[in-house]
Amino acid sequence: MNDRLPNHDWPALEPGWVWLCGAGPGDPGLLTLHALNAMRQADVIVYDALVSESILDWAPQAEKIYAGKRGGKPSAKQRDISLHLVDLARAGRRVLRLKGGDPFVFGRGGEEAQTLVQHGIPIRIVPGITAGIAGLAYAGIPVTHRDVNQSVTFVTGHDKAGNTPTAVDWAGIARGSQVIVIYMGMKHIGEIAARLIAAGRSPSEPVAVTTTATLTDQRTIETTLAHVETDIAAAGLEPPAIICVGMAVALRQALDWRGQAAGEAPRNLDPLDLRRPAEAG
Ligand code: SAH
Repeated sequence: MNDRLPNHDWPALEPGWVWLCGAGPGDPGLLTLHALNAMRQADVIVYDALVSESILDWAPQAEKIYAGKRGGKPSAKQRDISLHLVDLARAGRRVLRLKGGDPFVFGRGGEEAQTLVQHGIPIRIVPGITAGIAGLAYAGIPVTHRDVNQSVTFVTGHDKAGNTPTAVDWAGIARGSQVIVIYMGMKHIGEIAARLIAAGRSPSEPVAVTTTATLTDQRTIETTLAHVETDIAAAGLEPPAIICVGMAVALRQALDWRGQAAGEAPRNLDPLDLRRPAEAG
């Protein structure tokens, strides 16, 4: 099975085990080799809505079980998914739990792993490339840059009940985090932007919204905190989206490499107005 992977002591996915793997943000090339190794060995793959179908095609031998939201139906209950994984492992199957991005980043992978361990099921965790980093990179936005930020905050725009999370100290984030990367933020972005502005962020601060990042239909709009909600509606953007708040967004004027590959010229070679060559920093 491993003959097409580079030479390495690849772990075996044994019967009765569950591997919780990240599938990356969508582009199949962003899968890790450990995830590919798992896909080649799995008897059954339990996958989420955000896992690309083209990735699943790489495991023709495996039974595929969908565990996510589709067509507006309520998502499979977390408890049912976790216990289903337990049952599959107890039946002696080689189980791959494949989740979008990284399994431990806003992906409930921690909860599933806890349930498995509580039921005595052996697990392996395969980290994945998370949408909040790779999605921005595919939009031409470096998540850190020495002239922009020494910190970055990843935050969810949804709590368990689907509301703007009350446990999040939005004012604290507004004050303390130069760049803010919001997952699951589309529904409540108006309220989130208002809270950030109320805590002192400039209404004209740049914001980027990138949907279906890393896939061929990726779209990005550049807007501001004051206008993000109306501009999302005007552009007709739909989730999944990564929203980035901060001056990092300005770098896209120079670094939109996908646009440039499609023939666009860089809009501004010095978007931070540093007036020196980048290598002179
Ligand atoms: N574990 C995932 C995140 C799951 S939460 C990860 O590490 O990336 C689901 C949210 O992730 C979506 O609402 C969206 O905010 C973000 N997301 C995941 N894939 C995305 C993609 N391809 N493009 C844009 N946003 C994405």
